[in-house]
Amino acid sequence: MSFDVIIVGAGSAGCVLANRLSADPARRVCLIEAGPRDRNPLIHIPLGLAVLARMRGINWGYATDPEPALNNRRLYWPRGRVLGGSSSINAMIYMRGHPADYAGWAAAAGPEWDWPRVRQLFIDLEGNTALSDDHHGAEGPLTVSNLRKVNPLSAAFVQAGLDCQFPENPDFNGASQDGVGLYQVTQANGQRFSAAAPFWTRSAAART
Ligand SMILES: Cc1cc2nc3c(=O)[nH]c(=O)nc-3n(C[C@H](O)[C@H](O)[C@H](O)COP(=O)(O)OP(=O)(O)OC[C@H]3O[C@@H](n4cnc5c(N)ncnc54)[C@H](O)[C@@H]3O)c2cc1C
Repeated sequence: MSFDVIIVGAGSAGCVLANRLSADPARRVCLIEAGPRDRNPLIHIPLGLAVLARMRGINWGYATDPEPALNNRRLYWPRGRVLGGSSSINAMIYMRGHPADYAGWAAAAGPEWDWPRVRQLFIDLEGNTALSDDHHGAEGPLTVSNLRKVNPLSAAFVQAGLDCQFPENPDFNGASQDGVGLYQVTQANGQRFSAAAPFWTRSAAART
């Protein structure tokens, strides 16, 4: 069997890349992943993230070099080793970078990486189930939702910030990232929505 493109690593980037490149049916794309398929139910249950961060088999479980600023301690450094990569074990917070970050990208890599263009890509990518305005997209493949259940401690934390006169921010991907509020998450119907679901599993199923 021969391929036009071989992508090593079916994580966030690899799944998106495979999805976009294989949109051309004439192009044969091979996606190689070191880890297993994402069949472990803990991947799909958001509460599972506490276990996933330590779970061998689907996590590379790296350690940093000794950190001089931390009394030479080595820090534990989880990374996904499974279909979906780190998006299958991460904390699911949906937070874009700050516009100034992308100005830095554009300076390094060219104007197509500047904020106005990257911002539009974020909007096109997003299937937001709760927010619909100039900052968000509702039709994209990546499902983004409000938390279905808010921990009382989270609500108390936000209220404490408001009591301290910090501004309330109901949308960290909106006009400003300042303030206190609750994150949106990459979850659909209460389940994790890793990069594998929209960009690999569904499109692979559609092709077979
Ligand atoms: C515990 C944790 C919590 C996080 N929380 C958040 C969050 O809440 N919000 C957020 O936006 N981001 C979060 N992140 C970060 C985010 O998940 C990552 O930045 C993103 O998934 C990285 O994508 P990637 O494609 O660069 O790498 P990855 O998604 O890590 O993909 C790399 C893939 O390559 C595979 N691979 C590596 N070497 C080989 C090889 N030789 N052969 C075959 N396959 C190989 C790996 O197994 C892996 O599947 C978190 C990350 C972690 C680990």
